[in-house]
Amino acid sequence: MSIQSNLNTIKATLPEHVTLVAVSKTKPVSDLMEAYEAGQRIFGENKIQEMTEKWEQMPKDIQWHMIGHVQSNKVKFMAPYVTLIHGVDSLKLLQEINKQALKNNRIIDCLLQIYIAEEESKFGLDENELNELLTSAEFKELKNIRILGLMGMATFTEDQSQIKKEFTHLKNIFDSIQKSQDIKDFTIISMGMSGDYQLAIECGSTMVRIGSSIFGGR
Ligand SMILES: *Cc1c(COP(=O)(O)O)cnc(C)c1O
Repeated sequence: MSIQSNLNTIKATLPEHVTLVAVSKTKPVSDLMEAYEAGQRIFGENKIQEMTEKWEQMPKDIQWHMIGHVQSNKVKFMAPYVTLIHGVDSLKLLQEINKQALKNNRIIDCLLQIYIAEEESKFGLDENELNELLTSAEFKELKNIRILGLMGMATFTEDQSQIKKEFTHLKNIFDSIQKSQDIKDFTIISMGMSGDYQLAIECGSTMVRIGSSIFGGR
């Protein structure tokens, strides 16, 4: 199957309110260009250096999403162009993003990553840490970032009921934040990958991050 037909097949199954991030990490620019020619404009990468090299080489109407874990000292490399940072999991990182956004005279959109899996290896905040962050005085001072929603990754398992439980947990946290906090433009729930995006959409996802089902295995 070609990248174009994979894309079209997936897009045909997505409800209109769900945004597709084409996860192109490790793939060559020629593969990304094939998706671009097929109309895709949102790409997700998990390494800042790789994303920046692709950004330099590719058309400038592409929206670049950072979906991986972000090290503070590398934020400056993507600050001039990144569209959305999915994996923000600390106030310290938000402060660095704010600082670099200010230097570039921009507002950078972010999602806060919530820990929903049962795997120690995954990153993210729990609900208490999230509330603490959002209500802190330090957070309220940050004028060059915008929190557009939440991101989560489910446990890597075949157990659909487990995955469903984790996605529902994220959706519940999102709903309670939306009710209790006055955050403008808090609308995105980024959850779902190639193996579980349909379930994620059933559970309330508004943004899916799909790699291997579009570009093939890595
Ligand atoms: C790699 C990756 C994806 C895409 O995974 P696929 O299984 O290839 O669809 C989604 N989200 C994150 C955070 C990733 O690192």
